[in-house]
Amino acid sequence: MSTALTFRELPYARESLATVLSTTGAIGENSVVVTDATLFYPHGGGQPGDRGVFITADGRTLAVNDTRKGENGQVCHLLDPGHGLEVGQSVTQQIDWPRRHAHMRMHTALHLLSVVVPHGVTGGSIGADRGRLDFDLGDASFDKDELTERLNALIAADYPVTSEWISEAELDARPELVKTMSVTPPRGAGEIRMVRIGDVDYQPCGGTHVASTAEIGPIQVASIKNRGARNRRFTLTWAETPGGGQ
Ligand SMILES: [Zn+2]
Repeated sequence: MSTALTFRELPYARESLATVLSTTGAIGENSVVVTDATLFYPHGGGQPGDRGVFITADGRTLAVNDTRKGENGQVCHLLDPGHGLEVGQSVTQQIDWPRRHAHMRMHTALHLLSVVVPHGVTGGSIGADRGRLDFDLGDASFDKDELTERLNALIAADYPVTSEWISEAELDARPELVKTMSVTPPRGAGEIRMVRIGDVDYQPCGGTHVASTAEIGPIQVASIKNRGARNRRFTLTWAETPGGGQ
């Protein structure tokens, strides 16, 4: 049995009940707990795996240290050994919401970065404090202050962010929709998940995003660095406030 990816349709859900499907796996020092459904995003597409806790019916709180994709559509929650969970048991899943929400904001900001830097994406990564995309720029060059201004204008325009499914055949007929050269979009059951930001961006993506761009908040292009002859790494951070906080 696969794990229902509840975070896909309910990216704002912070707490939910789930039933333990298996407890036998291990990844590194961690025990793997698979549940029938999950709010925990598994590491993938440059977005880190969620952290949080499982709370048992008898009131024990167990830390979820990381979340990974497993086999056969299952999601692996990484817990300390000795968690005592058993197959069939119900747990309340609570994600580390401030961390996940920061990932959602930064992830959505990186979609907008791919709008203002219209070149092939060769890599990327998302964190709670910063995010980056590498682009195959060729001879093109960009000014980070100008990009910062354009990004913040897109954020302030408060475009809605929505998702929909199209067939693999439809995507194959429109290869220009795939911006990321290094990661093939998630496939399965003949359907591809597409993420739309107003009328400015439309691309395949399996990650979690905020509902509209204003929720990202002010951002800045912190640096643009050479990564080989044609590749440039663009790093985003939250805009610095006059008080020096975030
Ligand atoms: Zn995305």
